[in-house]
Amino acid sequence: MLVTNHVAAGAAIGALLHRRPALAFAVGVASHLAMDSLPHWGLPRVPESHDRFLEVAKRDGVAGLAAIAVLSGPARGIRPGVLAGIAGATLLDVDKPARHFFDRNPVPARVQGFHERIQREAPHRMRAEIAIAAGLLGLSGILVTRHRSAV
Ligand SMILES: [Zn+2]
Repeated sequence: MLVTNHVAAGAAIGALLHRRPALAFAVGVASHLAMDSLPHWGLPRVPESHDRFLEVAKRDGVAGLAAIAVLSGPARGIRPGVLAGIAGATLLDVDKPARHFFDRNPVPARVQGFHERIQREAPHRMRAEIAIAAGLLGLSGILVTRHRSAV
């Protein structure tokens, strides 16, 4: 699943669990596994997919970073929880930038294997992925700003 969607889910979780950042982190990790096991966009893991994957990954990476800024910026008073939720929700995808930029994968092989086995990817699901992004970004935006006015 796009990392932008994991960021948005993590921010929502962090806003809801902002008083317990460690729990927000753990639930963020769980959300990653749950979301990756649902049908989502992805390409066959073959060399021919590499260029297209990289093209999407660059845009998704920039969108994900922008989402972190936009969602944590207004999270005054609850920012540690929001960032903990985002960190947990995105942790398992560190393999992609780590391999691309450093040619290394810090994720233990057993965890990496499990993460790859649960994927339910298909290349025709990008529209659904973007619709999910819009919904999750809207939801997390509401939760983050709601807490800001309540603090
Ligand atoms: Zn993943």
